[in-house]
Amino acid sequence: MAGFFDIPKEKISRRGKTCASCGLYAKVKSPRMPAYGEFKKKILVIGEIPEEKDDLYNKPFQGRYGLILQNAFRKLEYSLFEDCLLMHAVQCRTVNEDGDSRPPTSDEIICCKSRVFATIKEYKPHVIILLGTAALESVIGSRWQSDFGSLSQWRGWTIPDREFNAWICPIFDPSYIDKSEKEVETVWMQDLDKALSMTYEPLPDYEDEKELVEIIDDPERLKELKSPVAFDFETTGLKPHAEGHQIVCTSVSDGNHHYVFLMTDEMKRGLIRLLRNPNIAKIAQNMKFENTWAKIRLDCEVRNWLWDPMLASHILDNRSNITGLKFQAYVQFGILDYSSEIKPYLEADKKDANSFNRVLELMSTESGKKKLLIYCGIDSILEHRLALKQMEEFNGTRST
Ligand code: SF4
Repeated sequence: MAGFFDIPKEKISRRGKTCASCGLYAKVKSPRMPAYGEFKKKILVIGEIPEEKDDLYNKPFQGRYGLILQNAFRKLEYSLFEDCLLMHAVQCRTVNEDGDSRPPTSDEIICCKSRVFATIKEYKPHVIILLGTAALESVIGSRWQSDFGSLSQWRGWTIPDREFNAWICPIFDPSYIDKSEKEVETVWMQDLDKALSMTYEPLPDYEDEKELVEIIDDPERLKELKSPVAFDFETTGLKPHAEGHQIVCTSVSDGNHHYVFLMTDEMKRGLIRLLRNPNIAKIAQNMKFENTWAKIRLDCEVRNWLWDPMLASHILDNRSNITGLKFQAYVQFGILDYSSEIKPYLEADKKDANSFNRVLELMSTESGKKKLLIYCGIDSILEHRLALKQMEEFNGTRST
């Protein structure tokens, strides 16, 4: 579908920045520090900035923080310089007026990003360890379509990134460990251990979710679904009570069948039969939302609720800003973006809970309608897949 994963304008304007716009190369001893290391285990380690010693020797991880990292790798029976390729997100040292190291600016990170991406494309690492915020901003933040938040919410995930075909593992930077309590170092070592454990872990091979979604208009097809079923509504707003609000489409997935449909009278009757069926367990991200809309707009009590992936995400990991489906879609399944084109149409007036979003405007063209249906279909596929993965984690049958 043309343009479905288009990059918004503000991202495009950040493209094309290079050394000429950055200028740091003219102020350091070792400009454009090359990547270094034997790369025997196909691990790429990306730090933040060169330390003073790195700049002196024109090699990454030569200084105090590099030593902390070398020791941590050794404890885990890896060799930093033999097993990995090493580089920094910003490849020239950044200093303040006193000549001391300073954090890089977002602009410097963006300028250097093309060099980082070129290294990833050239070496094709199996594991990419991101040390600290600058590395996170370069590799994930520059491709993330909304505010990417802070390192605290990203650290510790092992992300099967589809674009780079690599496990991406953000963790704290050694300079942060150096200044922090012992407990932080313990967490850091656990995160590093987890990242290194992906060295021999194959990447999951998912089919393109867009191709899996089937648009249907025959309610008989809903009878093919087996328990448990994830379902998702696209609606004209947040609250179903206000006059004129409606469910415009619904998707359902049982892991094998992935259907989406407009809410014709026939499909509505088929859906109500499914939602009331006590033999089919139900899954929904934020089940309270789907439950209320079903009750008010379909006059239907959903029977046999089984799982809410949003609640389960919170129970499994109580950090802030990690329970959204879009975040989970990336950290669990490597899908960077399937919603940014649709998102502006789903947003209602934040000050008025009863306000209408722009979904009907999107639906007014055939291409807009198809985009919404596919988006809705992907939601159910991911909710179902996430729920099953979480159930395995709760049962202790999954190690990653
Ligand atoms: S930091 Fe990166 S973009 Fe800036 S001058 Fe050095 S190599 Fe070029």
